[in-house]
Amino acid sequence: MTEIVIKGIPAAPGIAMGSAFILDKQEFIVPPRAIMATEVPVEIARFEEALIKTREEILSLKKKIDFEIGAQHAQIFDAHLLVLEDRTMIEEVIKKIKAEKLSAEFIFFQILKKYVKVFSHIQDEYLRERITDVNDIGRRVLKNLMDESKLHEFDNLTEQLIIIAHDLSPSDTVSMYNKNIIAFATDIGGRTSHTAIMAKSLGVPAVVGLKDATLQINNQDYVIVDGRMGLVIVNPKPETNEIYSNEKSRIESFRHRFDDMRDLPAETIDGKRVRITANCELPEETPVIIKHGAEGIGLYRTEYFYMNRVDLPSEEEQYQAYRHVAEAMAPHPITIRTLDLGGDKFISSLQLPRDMYPSLGWRAIRFCLERPDIFTTQLRAILRASVHGRIQLMYPMISGPGELRQANNILEEVKDNLKDEKIPFDENIAVGVMIEVPSAALTADLLAKEADFFSIGTNDLIQYTLAIDRVNEKTAYLYEPGHPAVLKLIQKAIEAGHQSKIKVGLCGEMSSEPVLAFLLLGLDLDEFSMSPLNILQIKKLIRSVRYIDAQELAQRALGLSTGKEVEELSQSRLKELAPHIFHVET
Ligand code: PEP
Ligand code: MG
Repeated sequence: MTEIVIKGIPAAPGIAMGSAFILDKQEFIVPPRAIMATEVPVEIARFEEALIKTREEILSLKKKIDFEIGAQHAQIFDAHLLVLEDRTMIEEVIKKIKAEKLSAEFIFFQILKKYVKVFSHIQDEYLRERITDVNDIGRRVLKNLMDESKLHEFDNLTEQLIIIAHDLSPSDTVSMYNKNIIAFATDIGGRTSHTAIMAKSLGVPAVVGLKDATLQINNQDYVIVDGRMGLVIVNPKPETNEIYSNEKSRIESFRHRFDDMRDLPAETIDGKRVRITANCELPEETPVIIKHGAEGIGLYRTEYFYMNRVDLPSEEEQYQAYRHVAEAMAPHPITIRTLDLGGDKFISSLQLPRDMYPSLGWRAIRFCLERPDIFTTQLRAILRASVHGRIQLMYPMISGPGELRQANNILEEVKDNLKDEKIPFDENIAVGVMIEVPSAALTADLLAKEADFFSIGTNDLIQYTLAIDRVNEKTAYLYEPGHPAVLKLIQKAIEAGHQSKIKVGLCGEMSSEPVLAFLLLGLDLDEFSMSPLNILQIKKLIRSVRYIDAQELAQRALGLSTGKEVEELSQSRLKELAPHIFHVET
């Protein structure tokens, strides 16, 4: 087998080695399950039983339709029965179960996909349309082979797998939490796409923007994912494998190199104190966040709450989750961001097509302002939770003071209602604004008069300022955090915040990259919020440099013309001042 190296964009660091699982955009997730030789007859019997059961279901359905709307409509099921009785297909499944020693559902699913592919290339339109029959029948057989509730989940993963997908939606990644998944690799995406963010919070390496990885890799191929260099190596040669095994162990041995930073303050050599907080996607992450010494949660992305479910989360359910996180993090504050639906984050419970919420469209706070039912439920839950621990509230995608006032008006109404109902809440809850739309950065002086704090969301700010879709791998090379326009907007937001005596944080991916964090320190950022896994390294960096050096760098960087020059300058200064930050690139 030849080794293939596919180059993509590094999205989450680390190295993983293992078996590939191609996650197609199909409705079902049927991961491979190895069986023992002695189980082969059992699997074949299960498969045959599933066929019989499906046949019975179809016959009774046929009878019902025949009776209710007529024989000609019931004929459709004859085609289904033909698929079900197709001897070639049945023989093929049985042969493969015997040869490959994998579960009946996995083998059947592979063969089903092959059939669908063949049908989709058929010229004859009538035959091509039979794809629906094949799919329908396939779904029924699968349901009879597996626990239906598990068909959409990763719970049934018994071996460690590397997920290879064209794209992963936030709801896909969320369902992978705590499952046996050791890396991700996707055809599309950029370094701040949600696949990258989720991979970091799951602590697994990821490479995105691989263009056609799903075509080049087959299920169960042995692959290496190199999240530092952005490479996926398929069927590696023994030499390559050895190099990576050694590298993996080397990284492993350095994993705890900054652990002694945990309880130390994030303070520069010359006494400038900043805060390092965590970004949180799921309440389950709080132990990891605490373990990495975060001084609170700077961004709690609540949209994950609304994913992978058919209903909307109730006030009580949200209250319990927010309260749990606030209590776990106390005495540190947590910053709960209200629903940021849209762009690359869409939610299943609303059952609306993704196209309805493009990045520049009806999304985030705009959506919430028009759906007060959803917005007020969340605000009530946050306010109720605010008597437990320290909670701050933050609105995403604010484009200017008008929108902030609208959101605050709703918040005031919610507070009044709670008062009427005699439900306690923190009446002085801090309300912050995300600065992630260029118009917000440009009106930061006005916003600062009406907000309690700012948090700069560079993932979006960069995309909107440079007109670069953050999930598009084709333009990823233009996605420059150090671009002069981006730096000027960040500087403007920080200065405006400080003039009004409010704190300014940054919760985009930029704050966790050492070269950029050094620059942000020099721009006088107060709070760096990031994936918990990056906290100790950034704290080490802050504690290794002088603020005046960072300021001097920032001044020089603001005079440069390209993002590349900015990053190179910062990198070379950092290599002089704190080389140990780079010793091991994980
Ligand atoms: C951002 O835009 O920088 C941000 C932190 O929010 P998200 O990545 O959730 O859009
Ligand atoms: Mg954002």
